[in-house]
Amino acid sequence: MSTALAKYGTTDLGALRAAQMQLVEDSASSRAQFMKLVEGANQVRILPPWDPKMRSPFYELWLHYIRSSADPQGKGKPVACPLKMRKSKTCVACADVRRRFDTGSPADEQVAKALRSTRRVYANVVNMLDPSKGVQVLDFGTMLYEKFLNRMLGAPSDTGVPDVAALGDISHPELGYTMVIDRKGTKQFDTKYELRAARSPSPIADPAWLTQLHDLSTIVAYRDNDYIRAVLAGEDPVDGEAVFSIGPVGGAVPPPADRDFEDATFE
Ligand SMILES: [Zn+2]
Repeated sequence: MSTALAKYGTTDLGALRAAQMQLVEDSASSRAQFMKLVEGANQVRILPPWDPKMRSPFYELWLHYIRSSADPQGKGKPVACPLKMRKSKTCVACADVRRRFDTGSPADEQVAKALRSTRRVYANVVNMLDPSKGVQVLDFGTMLYEKFLNRMLGAPSDTGVPDVAALGDISHPELGYTMVIDRKGTKQFDTKYELRAARSPSPIADPAWLTQLHDLSTIVAYRDNDYIRAVLAGEDPVDGEAVFSIGPVGGAVPPPADRDFEDATFE
């Protein structure tokens, strides 16, 4: 075949090199930006909302973790629930969960429980035991979220939670508190958290942290029902790689998954 008349461009390897370096940098920064709670005492400073329009230091997301039937204990692929996030009046993952609960099959029930949407909460924090890492994102579940709110606002009177003095805005850069999160256990059913506050409020150690706040609304890209339907069916229209099929309704019993709910950070 002659190429004499064909028009085509010339690949610039230098430009590709820049793209390659960017990939390395992006993946390093996305890993670095999450703080992991270790067993024992963690010290965190929650930072204020990243945008003057936001009214809470916490950003709530409802996620479905779609696990492959081939790897039911895996992390799964997180997708925001379009229904709970009020992006749509329907959610194909929620519909799949309902269908499976309705069949009465133990295997379906197990898959349904793992696919149910769960609340994840994100906050900009500095790990006060390693402040050199700068501003990171802490993500946690309902259990710890409730403890944060109870410490800030005081526990609602009829919940039986011991009443402690409300601390107010712990995220305030001048009047906020360093919080101590005691973690016991690492698995879904044995992880417990206790939350304490430093004895007195303090200003943040480095004002530059306020310029490093992450836009928490961009952590999970919103996908529509067509995308979720494709992932449930075992495709990944965006990454085009792993097969995430959760298996058909009425399928075989997968081994039980011991999910690390409170720590389901994804990269
Ligand atoms: Zn849903």
